[in-house]
Amino acid sequence: MGGGQPGDIGKLVVLGNEDEEYAITDTRYSADKSGIEHVVPSKNGLAIGDKVSVIIDWDRRYKLMQIHTALHLLSTVVPLGVTGGRIDVGKGHLDFRSSDYTYDKEAIAAGINKLIDENHEVEYNFVDAAELSSNPELVKTMSVAPPATATGEVRLVKIGEADLQSCGGTHMKSTGDIQKIKVAKIKSKGKENKRVQIAFADA
Ligand SMILES: [Zn+2]
Repeated sequence: MGGGQPGDIGKLVVLGNEDEEYAITDTRYSADKSGIEHVVPSKNGLAIGDKVSVIIDWDRRYKLMQIHTALHLLSTVVPLGVTGGRIDVGKGHLDFRSSDYTYDKEAIAAGINKLIDENHEVEYNFVDAAELSSNPELVKTMSVAPPATATGEVRLVKIGEADLQSCGGTHMKSTGDIQKIKVAKIKSKGKENKRVQIAFADA
């Protein structure tokens, strides 16, 4: 669920009896961050000690990764503070703090698609939480609190020269792997915020 994404779904397949499978409806970090918990609502027949393969719904995850990475690009195209966001399969939005900025659906989409065309690489490095707190501008969007690891480090995500921020989500290897994007909707959210919703252009 890092970076505001929904948890992955998929299935457990019992080794040696491939007809026996169990849906995984959500995944999340355990509270102590020591591992990942798979939510398996119907597990009749599954016994402690059974060996299983864990299969991710990759088509869904691949779309979530594209939208998540595209929201990074949106956060650089619209030069305003981000107050919230949501990621779904094939669409997502960010809420921006209002100002006298003029929102233009076509211009915002063109700005995102230009960064996709430029095929910027997505790179990672880790800093300790203290270093991050002396650079608060790196905690920009997507998450309320920086996603610290069990060892207290925070991951920084750098997208070419376009974007640098702390983020625990999943991303494409480079922006050129994102499908073309359209701006589906821009609407007011209360007095203070505007919501910009993006989606795949061919959806
Ligand atoms: Zn991210």
